[in-house]
Amino acid sequence: ESELPRDHPRYQSLLTRHRIEEGVEKGITSTQGLIAEGRGEAFDYLLGEETLPSADAAARAAAAHLLLADHPVLSVNGNVAALVPGGIVSLADATGADLEVNLFNRTEERMEAIAEHLREHGADEVKGLAADGRIPGLSHERAKVDADGIGAADVVLVPLEDGDRAEALGELGKTEIVIDLNPMSRSPRMAAVPVIDNIVRAVPNVAEHARELRDAPREGLERVVEEFDREAALRDAERAIREGDLGKRDGKGGT
Ligand code: ATP
Ligand code: MG
Repeated sequence: ESELPRDHPRYQSLLTRHRIEEGVEKGITSTQGLIAEGRGEAFDYLLGEETLPSADAAARAAAAHLLLADHPVLSVNGNVAALVPGGIVSLADATGADLEVNLFNRTEERMEAIAEHLREHGADEVKGLAADGRIPGLSHERAKVDADGIGAADVVLVPLEDGDRAEALGELGKTEIVIDLNPMSRSPRMAAVPVIDNIVRAVPNVAEHARELRDAPREGLERVVEEFDREAALRDAERAIREGDLGKRDGKGGT
């Protein structure tokens, strides 16, 4: 990371890419995760690499949902672990949520490596290794969850989840919060709260809202949830991509 020129116009994006590379080297991130990163970078570029006000509203609604939940769970995959290990642990602390490793391409080695990585960043309990629960409607490997984790959750935060699993979780009646840079992807379209933002910005932002809302009365949190308009958030992100209204793309160029 020290070799990256700090004054490069796309410093943050290069830093993110570098962390994903390191994740692959450490056995935390899959090679598919590298491809997902590339797709994410393209959308972030189009969004001006900034958090839209509509995405900030979604982050606030996400925080309110997590604080209102009886059993909130944050799902962690290889990209999340590589990009925001400290941030996701801190979000779990701020909301009282469990952390559960949940992989599209599940291998025991990767599950262990991610759990260990999260513990190194301060997590005390990491779920996902028991795999004694199943999400109905998915093939065997992809259906595995912990019965007392995602299996028992009422609110689940799934950053970068694939469309099938987002749909299957929604059908179980769980409130889903999805962080994804592509407003056209099925996963955010399935979510009660689509946060169209880079996880690098969104995870700390949700945590900040949670800390701010932590002492709010229940009715206050319920109002934040009710006032959030998921359709408007999706539309606004699409509009920003089409119109490029932030003007941030100019001069940033490619790498
Ligand atoms: P589906 O339509 O089934 O949801 P997909 O096209 O989204 O599939 P993937 O390649 O798994 O399939 O997509 C990865 C998703 O993750 C993309 O939508 C991409 O924008 C998003 N993504 C990648 N990196 C980040 C990131 N750092 N922050 C937020 N979203 C990201
Ligand atoms: Mg998707």
